[in-house]
Amino acid sequence: RTKLRKAARVILVGPPGSGKGTQSGRLLDHFKMSAISSGDILRENIRNRTPLGVEAESIIQRGGLVNDSTMVKLIVGELSKRGWVESRSTLTSGITATGALSIMGHESKHTRLATSNSPSSSFLLDGFPRTVGQAKSLDDEVDMNFVVNLDVPRDVILERIANRMVHVPSGRVYNMTWNPPKVLGIDDVTGEPLTRRPDDCPETFAKRLKAYDESTAPLLEYYDKVGLLWTVSGKSSDEITPQLDEEIMRRFG
Ligand code: ATP
Ligand code: MG
Repeated sequence: RTKLRKAARVILVGPPGSGKGTQSGRLLDHFKMSAISSGDILRENIRNRTPLGVEAESIIQRGGLVNDSTMVKLIVGELSKRGWVESRSTLTSGITATGALSIMGHESKHTRLATSNSPSSSFLLDGFPRTVGQAKSLDDEVDMNFVVNLDVPRDVILERIANRMVHVPSGRVYNMTWNPPKVLGIDDVTGEPLTRRPDDCPETFAKRLKAYDESTAPLLEYYDKVGLLWTVSGKSSDEITPQLDEEIMRRFG
């Protein structure tokens, strides 16, 4: 695994089934970085029957989006837990307590940057942010520095989802045509069974695509305006991976 010279703080954006999970797994194999997948965290909560999981389950089954404030709390909480960002909201409460608003505000920004600029803290977010609202809240906490837009033709996506199998506990994704497991229906790493995601059924999948177009596409514009957006196109994950690796090396290697 290549250690990057500069900390990469990457966001993967792309329609459902565009291969975010696959590219994320490959980036972790190739580079010293960590990843958070919002979908995997939600599915873990569903498995463990947490209050959040119970609430999210019906939304996910309908192909909708979990609300922004819940998602922001979940993901920013996870980032702080892992020590990748210093939560600014925590610092903000300190500010009001002392009353030294402007000075403390300056310091809190400084602390935040110092933490997130450490080269060991390269990380990537898969599936978050998904709306402009989520992106703005994330901006308040950490300066992300690279947004990858996975551009995959719709007919390829539909075909891919029709034969996708997943290992839920790890989030590993297989495709019966392009990327089959070594043994049919079995996860390569753990030997546990693979399943179909309930929200991959054609009806729900169509709704997820629609939700993507409505809520997530404006994200691309948002990140393009601040100069962070980079689009990579390909019909298969294998076409995209080498381009993505090269671009990461060019920017952070
Ligand atoms: P794929 O995993 O195929 O790329 P996807 O991006 O639609 O597809 P996940 O990221 O696993 O799938 O998310 C599954 C579901 O979880 C979404 O359809 C949505 O309901 C919910 N979800 C995940 N991330 C978010 C988010 N950032 N905001 C709102 N809802 C989310
Ligand atoms: Mg995913």
